[in-house]
Amino acid sequence: MTELVWFRNDLRLHDHAPLTAAVASGKPVLAFYCFDDRDFDPLGIGVSKTGPYRSKILYEAVATLHQQLSTLGVAFLVVRSRTEEALQTIIQKFEVQTIHATFYPTPEETQRSAAVAALGVPLKLYDGHSLILPEDLPFNYYQLPKVFTAFRKKVEARLMVRPPLPAPTKILSAQAPEVLPTPEVLCLNFKMPDERTAFPFAGGEIAGLDRLEAYLWETGLIDTYKASRNGLMGADYSSKFSVYLAHGALSPRKIYSELRAYETQNGANEGTYWLFFELLWRDFFYFQAAAQGGAFFKYAEKKVTVASKALQFWMEGRTRDPFVDAAMRELAATGYTSNRMRQNVASYLIHNLKGDWVAGAAYFESLLIDYDCTSNYGNWTYLAGSGNDPRDNRVFNTKRQADMYDPDGSYQEYWRH
Ligand code: FAD
Repeated sequence: MTELVWFRNDLRLHDHAPLTAAVASGKPVLAFYCFDDRDFDPLGIGVSKTGPYRSKILYEAVATLHQQLSTLGVAFLVVRSRTEEALQTIIQKFEVQTIHATFYPTPEETQRSAAVAALGVPLKLYDGHSLILPEDLPFNYYQLPKVFTAFRKKVEARLMVRPPLPAPTKILSAQAPEVLPTPEVLCLNFKMPDERTAFPFAGGEIAGLDRLEAYLWETGLIDTYKASRNGLMGADYSSKFSVYLAHGALSPRKIYSELRAYETQNGANEGTYWLFFELLWRDFFYFQAAAQGGAFFKYAEKKVTVASKALQFWMEGRTRDPFVDAAMRELAATGYTSNRMRQNVASYLIHNLKGDWVAGAAYFESLLIDYDCTSNYGNWTYLAGSGNDPRDNRVFNTKRQADMYDPDGSYQEYWRH
């Protein structure tokens, strides 16, 4: 009789409700992760849903967890398949009694959960991706404010963030650890990012906790976050937590608890507040998706079958707007670009090129090492004016933006090629 923990985009030991529950059952535990074939399907614009940069960083997160679980003596089965097909065999072989997993509200993840639930073993889903748990919001989903400022004010007025769950230190295992399959066995194609990348870190929980420690306690970079966060170059103008949050290698509650501890020791400041503020944006899009279900993606449902010329030039960084082109080259070379540049290039595709924002969002989905479905599609709909933005037209003047954020042109020079 086995309790199975199905890891998804929650690749960590700390603050992990499914793992905590499985361990608390007192029964032998088995861990499972599937590189699901469907996540590597081609998108109509010449790229696959999970591109080679994210494949690499995702594998690093899985490998880290595999190493951590092996140290605890726990088997972590990592496969390439369709999740429900792989689980069918495992359920029988290990007499799985319960499957524990983290809930994610988007249509594909919901369908996958339904396919797993249909295998006939009870599937228990736990909240774990947002900072605030749904039951701790000061309103019901049907009262969820449609505009961020209203959401933030209501949440801040009755803020409730639970402390992160500790990582288990002892787990009864259903089987001895197995060797982690290589990327080749898992049919993963990797690409090394260009060495100029703004994200020179590894993926996974250990690297994520190191980055958290460094950004707050070792360097105090957090103190200047509000002023630096619109930077364009280098590792330290922003936290770079997004990659870890997207794969679940860091829990938002862990970040929040460290922020509060840091404030207790050093005092609160604009930097500590602003990072919390940005985490609320992440929750805002998450809850919009959770509340709206498929409607959140209604504009993105349309499948893009072919890249238009304008889209092609945009993707290749050949629009002739040097600011936009620099960011598109950075993205293509590294799988990352700053929030400021994401806003500019998305606005440029939508408003200047009159391009298809769904295709732009799909390109981001493939390329971004921190791709997170609700944050990506939420930001794109926001900029396209089809989501929760009260303004119809959210247009960035890229010339003015370049003057403000790259006055000496060094960013454009850095990514000229
Ligand atoms: P920091 O500035 O250090 O922010 C700290 C954290 O706050 C981030 O890690 C992130 O979790 C959260 N955050 C900050 N800004 C936003 C925002 N606008 N929306 C939601 N959360 C935010 N972020 C993703 O994590 N995944 C995506 O797929 C994604 N796609 C985007 C697409 C577009 C068109 C735009 C404009 C933004 C997108 N963002 C996305 C949001 C934002 O650009 C990144 O979270 C940020 O650049 C990541 O770097 P950082 O961790 O250093 O951010």
